[in-house]
Amino acid sequence: MGVPLFICRRCGRAYPKQRYRCRRCGSPEFNVLEASHGKLVSFTEIHAVRVGFKRPLRLGVVELDNGGKVVGILDLADPKMGDRVVVTRNSNLNFIKPAD
Ligand SMILES: [Zn+2]
Repeated sequence: MGVPLFICRRCGRAYPKQRYRCRRCGSPEFNVLEASHGKLVSFTEIHAVRVGFKRPLRLGVVELDNGGKVVGILDLADPKMGDRVVVTRNSNLNFIKPAD
């Protein structure tokens, strides 16, 4: 299961969270789709992490193929900018894995 993406019906702008109105055109109408594939456009490592998380914790930003960007926990052995990835959601956290 991917992540929900809210697409403005008037102008097509994509948002990772539901909005009252589109920031670009003001329309209140959105289509919802499930997005999962995209490319890794940024990542970082966090070394001070809570017990229960792997250290270092790697976080990445994915530019989804359907538009919009999401942040998630990276599950890639050797992440590189531009890697093709799949985003899944579990317990309100996004996880980024290699695309098949
Ligand atoms: Zn719009």
